[in-house]
Amino acid sequence: MFDGTPLLEWYRRNKRDLAWRSTRDPYAIWISEVMLQQTTVKTATPYYEAFLQRFPAVERLASAKEEEVLAAWSGLGYYHRARNLRRGAQHVVSHHGGRFPKTLEAALSVPGVGLYTASAILSIAYDVALPVVDGNVRRVLARLFALRGPKWKSDGPFYDKAEELLDRGHPGDWNQAVMELGATICTPRNPACPACPLRTVCVARAKGLTEELPESKARRASVDVTVAAALIERKGRVLLVRRAEGRLMGRMWEIPQTSLESKGHADLVREVRERHGLEIEPGPLVARARHAITFRRIRVEAYKSRLSRVPAEDPERLRWAAPAELGTFPTSSLTRKVLKAAAAAQLSLTLEPTS
Ligand code: SF4
Repeated sequence: MFDGTPLLEWYRRNKRDLAWRSTRDPYAIWISEVMLQQTTVKTATPYYEAFLQRFPAVERLASAKEEEVLAAWSGLGYYHRARNLRRGAQHVVSHHGGRFPKTLEAALSVPGVGLYTASAILSIAYDVALPVVDGNVRRVLARLFALRGPKWKSDGPFYDKAEELLDRGHPGDWNQAVMELGATICTPRNPACPACPLRTVCVARAKGLTEELPESKARRASVDVTVAAALIERKGRVLLVRRAEGRLMGRMWEIPQTSLESKGHADLVREVRERHGLEIEPGPLVARARHAITFRRIRVEAYKSRLSRVPAEDPERLRWAAPAELGTFPTSSLTRKVLKAAAAAQLSLTLEPTS
C-alpha cells in the first residue's frame, strides 16, 4: 500500500511561495492555471498579479471588453486562453451567480475549461477529490512505479493511476505536491533523488532507471478508424449518453457510438447495447465527420436510428438534449463535430451545437 504522507509533509514544508498559493479563491486559481498552461512560473507571476488587479472579480472580467482582456494578456501569447477566460467568466456569471461551479460536469461546461483545469480548480479551491495529470505528474508516477511498456505511452492509464493514489482527504495539496515534486526535484534531467521524500519507495531509483523513465510517448503511424454513431431524436431532442468514469474523457456526454476499436456500422447495435444497455435500430447514414485523436484518424458515420425500447429515465447516464441545451453539456469534440455535421446535413435534425 502506497503511503503518500512523506510527500504531503515535504510539500507543506518546502512548497515555493507562489502568488496563487496564498488563495483558495477559485477565480484566482482559475486564472493561474490557465496562465501556467503554456507559460513558466517566472513569466506568469507578474502577469497574474497585474491581471487580478485589473480584473479582481469574475464579474469584472465578464463585463470587460475583449480588447481590454487581450491587452492585459499582451506578451503572454496563446491569446485564445484570454478569450476563453473572458467567455468562461461570462458563463460563470450568467449560469452560476459568479461562483465557479463545484461539480466536474458543471466545470467542464465552462468555455475553455478542460479536464485538467477543471480538476485543478476543483481540487485546490474546493477539495473535490479529482486527480490532475500533467507532464510533471506523468514523470513522477512513471519513475515512482517504473511504469513502462506500451500501456504507459498514452494518458489514460496515468489518469487512472493518479486517481488511485489521490489523497482524498487533501486532494488539492496532494495534486500540488505531486506537481511540485516534478517541477523542483523529479526534474526531466538529473532528478535530485537524494532530496526526494519518496526516494525509499521509488522503483526507478532502486533499479537505476531514472534516466530512462518516463518513456517518450510513442510516435505511432496513423491508423484509420471508423466509428459509427446513432443519432436518436425524440420530440426535437437528441439522445446523449455518458461515458464511463475514470478515463480521460470520463463522464463526458456523447452520442451513442462504437469504440475506437470497432468495425463501425457492423458493431453499432452490439456495442451500444454493451456500453449503454440501449437497444437500437440503425437507419440511414445522415452525417459524416472527421476527427483525430493521437495516432488515430477517425471517420465518424452517424446513422439516424430508433430505439427499439425506450430506456428507463436515468439523468446520470442518459439525457435528451434540446438544441439550445447542447452547449451546456460537456461533450467531446468528436460529438460536437457529428452534431454540427448533422445540423449541416439538416435532415429532420435541427441541432446547432456550440463548438
Ligand atoms: S527518487 Fe528520484 S526518480 Fe524517484 S520520484 Fe524521487 S526524484 Fe523522482
